[in-house]
Amino acid sequence: MSDCIFCRIVAGQIPATKVFEDEDVVAFRDIHPQAALHVLIIPKKHIATLFDVVPEEDQAVLGKMLALAPRIASENGSADGFRTIINTGRLGGQEVYHLHIHVVGGQAMPAMLK
Ligand code: 5GP
Repeated sequence: MSDCIFCRIVAGQIPATKVFEDEDVVAFRDIHPQAALHVLIIPKKHIATLFDVVPEEDQAVLGKMLALAPRIASENGSADGFRTIINTGRLGGQEVYHLHIHVVGGQAMPAMLK
């Protein structure tokens, strides 16, 4: 998936400010932060959208991604709370078709935030 920007970040072909990495997932700061804290958690494996999380091993990685969010928030100045967002598909406003969880925080969240 060399045409996928997040796969290129996983491969180290595009720079990103990583805050966490293990064998399955990477978390890095969003290039256009929408809040004081804005990190994206992605699987290393290319999974296009939440619609595609069907195989059990992909479901396990998604669980790992979600469970990582509070750690990312706590370790990056948002221990009092945070918001997770997964934009899915055209109607969901997804721009990058590599599954990602937005972790936003570091400030009080408005009623809705991208
Ligand atoms: P989506 O709308 O797909 O849920 O959000 C994609 C997010 O990826 C956007 O918030 C956008 O700022 C971020 N993004 C897009 N390209 C890059 C990039 O090359 N590096 C980083 N760090 N973030 C990116």
